[in-house]
Amino acid sequence: MQMGWQWQEPSFVWFRDVSPRDGLQAEKMILETKDKVQLINQLTQAGVPRIEVTSFVSPQWLPQMADAEEVMAAIDRKPGVVYSVLVPNPKGAERAVATKPDEMTVFVSASETHNQKNVHRSITESLQGFRDIGAMVRVHGIKVSAVIVTAFGCPYEGVVSLSSVLDLAQRLQELGIDEITLGDTVGVANPKQVANMVGAFREKLPQVEMALHFHDTRGTALANLLAAVGSGASKFETALGGIGGSPFSPGAGGNLSTEDSVYCLMEMGIATGIDLKLLLYATQFLVEKLGHDVPSRVFHAGGKMIPVNARH
Ligand code: ZN
Repeated sequence: MQMGWQWQEPSFVWFRDVSPRDGLQAEKMILETKDKVQLINQLTQAGVPRIEVTSFVSPQWLPQMADAEEVMAAIDRKPGVVYSVLVPNPKGAERAVATKPDEMTVFVSASETHNQKNVHRSITESLQGFRDIGAMVRVHGIKVSAVIVTAFGCPYEGVVSLSSVLDLAQRLQELGIDEITLGDTVGVANPKQVANMVGAFREKLPQVEMALHFHDTRGTALANLLAAVGSGASKFETALGGIGGSPFSPGAGGNLSTEDSVYCLMEMGIATGIDLKLLLYATQFLVEKLGHDVPSRVFHAGGKMIPVNARH
């Protein structure tokens, strides 16, 4: 967002809802498999074009995701919708391949300290693993996307430089990664930083698909999404209800809520393909199953044309 910055919104914005993975992994209570399946099916019915279904992390780390195979087998897949899974290492990818996801997501931190704490490996070791994963899954027609976590700031190292993020993105691109998501894992990004990052990324790696992932720890997530949209970004990861918060990132707040993002863009005339009313039914279901409230603002207020009591 420099002098002369020009608003250049896309006509369509693609959302990947990550609540079944990023959201539920942060919850103390473990949803029953059938409820996870219903949640994902409701997201599909609401028109969410991309859904992160689960992760193939060791159940010792994350017991919330121990039923990954069962969930993948039970969901209703709508043609055209991209069902992705998160994998931490080649072993997880091997388990995941058997469940036939459309896409597999790997992740690496922009800072060495966070990567060590998160996955007990150096950044270079993580990238070597991605090479093995790519070779293993591409023969099955599965795309590989990567999330750069702590791309806007790290809870251990503080400031993360724009150039170090772009260098890491380039290394990922050289490994044949199909799409790169810039993650504000702890919720420290500001709109100007986001606009600068999106502009610099598109300039340096114009051929690479880019997405963004914001946490609303400090109330800046929707402003960050708008700064990215105004800089031409068209892919985002958000979570139903605004649930989430990484168990491995101290102080992280929930994800930016899918409902709030869809509502805002819809009111601005930017298409998402998502039916807000059906999305709010899914939130209602999620709240009932979790047994607690969620941060989403639109869930509480209703859409402009959707009275609160019409949700029930
Ligand atoms: Zn997240």
